Amino acid sequence: MSAKSGEASDALCFLLTNDFSGLTRGRGFPASALDQFVKSGCGWVHANQALTPFGPIAANHPFGPLGDLRLRADPSTLVHHDAGDGSEPFHFILCDLVDYEGNRWDCDPRSLLQSAIEKLFEETGLYVNASFEHEFMMTNLSENAPPFSYRAYRLIDKLCGKILRAMQDAGTGPEMILPEYGAGQFEVTMQPTRALRAADNAVIMRELVRELSRREGLHATFSPKLIPNGVGNGVHVHFGLLREDGTPCNYDAQGPGQMSAPLAHFCAGILRHLPALIALTAPSAISNLRLQPHHWSAAFTCIGVQNREASLRICPAVSGASAERAHHVEFRAADACASPYLVLASMILAGLDGIRNKIALPELLTADPSSLSEAQRNAGGIHPLPGSVPEALAEVDKDRELKSWFSEDFWNCYRAMKRAELGMLEGSSAEEMCTRYSQVY
Ligand code: GLU
Ligand code: MG
Repeated sequence: MSAKSGEASDALCFLLTNDFSGLTRGRGFPASALDQFVKSGCGWVHANQALTPFGPIAANHPFGPLGDLRLRADPSTLVHHDAGDGSEPFHFILCDLVDYEGNRWDCDPRSLLQSAIEKLFEETGLYVNASFEHEFMMTNLSENAPPFSYRAYRLIDKLCGKILRAMQDAGTGPEMILPEYGAGQFEVTMQPTRALRAADNAVIMRELVRELSRREGLHATFSPKLIPNGVGNGVHVHFGLLREDGTPCNYDAQGPGQMSAPLAHFCAGILRHLPALIALTAPSAISNLRLQPHHWSAAFTCIGVQNREASLRICPAVSGASAERAHHVEFRAADACASPYLVLASMILAGLDGIRNKIALPELLTADPSSLSEAQRNAGGIHPLPGSVPEALAEVDKDRELKSWFSEDFWNCYRAMKRAELGMLEGSSAEEMCTRYSQVY
């Protein structure tokens, strides 16, 4: 076939999916064929969902070599950004995984989030607004600077500018980029938006940050821990509820922590299911190294106002701002080894269970939970989170309600993938595991 004019300057565009491992994978095609690929999608296979973060595919997953899926583009997620540094532009679209009839696949995280959003709305008339706040670390900065310092920002000022512009261009609503506490640690926050878009933004932002850093010769990682006793990288999910007309429904001056009844029940549902939820929100072999007391992350099932050792932190509006608009809650028990879609889908289904069954909110915690005696914690319904992935998966088995939210194929594939991931780390020290994850995430 003779080359058509213009083909020589064609660039690649990708259709992408974010999978059980929280990694983004996909297929590229000439950008000139974008319309065609948006219309017809492209092929994908069921078995890919069993890919481990370290590459090899899990044995004993429920999908054989047969069957085909389609990556169906959601054009509203199109990213086309030229950083102007001579590299090929970022050009990709996030996708749903569907069968040949166009039905959502019950093991596709993005589809599962959409189903969860619809279910919540059908039963309660409410939507979720959310925003993912990510911490990440540069592993090879040549210099160090004090925590939160302007100097720390200056070490990567050009990169920060590039990240900001890329995020703006990609429509991910960047809010802040800040130097964090740990050595080489930074944080990106984004504006709240509807749940699906919030998860899309998290997926897009991770790709932009890692790749723009790589172009500067820097290695950025979102992995939950770089060294076993070091500072953790959290993914904090800020969330609230919206009525159908888009108005927030989170604030009630008389409610616990000034939360509306639906938000309080939503939080109670999350807390009830949290031990099992962890299997989906903090799912790596090193996630538990971060979910420890005194890490400002989340070691126990508890909720408190402005409490950074609680798994749910109530975030009141600053004085002078509209409490109706700004009051919300932060989920602190997630990390970047999880798919943002699975994090939000499982949070929403847990919250819905809380609203549906009017689950009572435990007392708000005004202390560091690790400073309480075990008896005090038990009295307050405060429980330690599982200490490993197998323990979290055992909690899934005990939590019949949570288990029922996802299909048998889902759990069989998820477990097979996790078994394989952990198997590949057998015999590794905690330090070695941290290194392995930092090379992937
Ligand atoms: N680095 C902490 C974490 O692992 C969070 C610190 C903060 O509150 O920003 O979640
Ligand atoms: Mg932070």
